[in-house]
Amino acid sequence: MSLLTRRKMLKNAALPIAGTFALPTLAAAVQDASTPYQRPKLKITDVRTAVVRVHGLQTHIRVYTDQGLYGQGESTDAAVGTVSLINQFRRFLVGQDPLNVDALWERIRVSGIFAGAQGGQYVTALTGLEIALWDLAGKALGLPVYQLLGGKFRDKIRIYCDSDMEDPLGPESDRKLPWIKNQGFTAMKIDLDDASDPNRFDRVNWTANNAEVDRMVNWVRHVRDSIPKEMELCCDMHGRYDAGTAKRVAKELEPFRLLWLEEPVAPEDIDAMADIRHSTSTPIATGENLYMRWGYRELLDKGAVDIIQPDIQKTGGLSEGRKIANLAQTYYVPVAPHCVVSPIGMMSTAHVCASIPNFLVCEWHWINFPELWKNWVKEGEIIQKGYVTVTDKPGIGLEMNEEVAQKSQIPGTTWFEPTKA
Ligand code: MG
Repeated sequence: MSLLTRRKMLKNAALPIAGTFALPTLAAAVQDASTPYQRPKLKITDVRTAVVRVHGLQTHIRVYTDQGLYGQGESTDAAVGTVSLINQFRRFLVGQDPLNVDALWERIRVSGIFAGAQGGQYVTALTGLEIALWDLAGKALGLPVYQLLGGKFRDKIRIYCDSDMEDPLGPESDRKLPWIKNQGFTAMKIDLDDASDPNRFDRVNWTANNAEVDRMVNWVRHVRDSIPKEMELCCDMHGRYDAGTAKRVAKELEPFRLLWLEEPVAPEDIDAMADIRHSTSTPIATGENLYMRWGYRELLDKGAVDIIQPDIQKTGGLSEGRKIANLAQTYYVPVAPHCVVSPIGMMSTAHVCASIPNFLVCEWHWINFPELWKNWVKEGEIIQKGYVTVTDKPGIGLEMNEEVAQKSQIPGTTWFEPTKA
């Protein structure tokens, strides 16, 4: 049902099953309207959620309308507790025209400026909702989302594989590194921060000693030597270390010519990030914990990073992701989205990546859930040889395979259940 274009919906409404929908205006519209502009305006009737845990927690959001169409979006990472926020947002949505995506987004954002709308869960809840509105708008107009975002610069979106390894020197590495190569990925990532490193003197403070820095360099050397020369390598420090540690690590990793070193310090420590960037030839990246345009403004203005990594399922949505990318473009900074979500979330990110000039590469993070990944949507595997081809189907263009997805439902949560009046 969700992949039916609105045109097909209207055709169906003219048939005897129109009674099923009890939507006589649809049947009338099909007689005298042939373009979306001539059809009755959509109205939002309900907003429903489903919460799953795969790589972290994701809230899936559906926005329903009076004409049978619905849109689906996804939010992640700061998605804990977002269901109650989305329930609060419903009063701004029901009865409204869902095609005014940016206006609905702005209304909800400014209504929450005293309630945490500067970031975190508030923005993440709004993000999943915004993505559902874009999916709905595309279905209503019979166009893929990238077309609504201004068209595409590219057909295929380059994907890198997050290896999600506990120990890059162990058997997990022996298994995963050949697999990543065989899948055709042209870039991959490893994590350098290790809370269980036996060399650590203090379980709280993350200032790295020589042995820890040596361990990081050894991990990078091993992986670099184990993958093809042409495959690019990124390393993540998860914002845990201080500036002194970060500068040492960035310097010592220079010979490995990384694609980037990610969050060497906490992303809000912009002056330290700039200091590190200017001290090394290793490119510095950050962004997965920043929200909306305002979260990136000072970072970009101070020249603190080489690459930004907005999480499109967290930072505000598809329109906001595009605005962040365009802001970065004014500083000639490329965009490599953080992405840890389902194929639906990744394809929605791909629509943004297609619509911006400064796209670099996008993350994929379900290496530990290959069967779930392949079967999450009815369209099957969306990554071919390390690339996602942006779909031309209306909306985001994928339909959730609910039998599979519901296996990851968090116990005690609802599954797209209608809101009780
Ligand atoms: Mg990261």
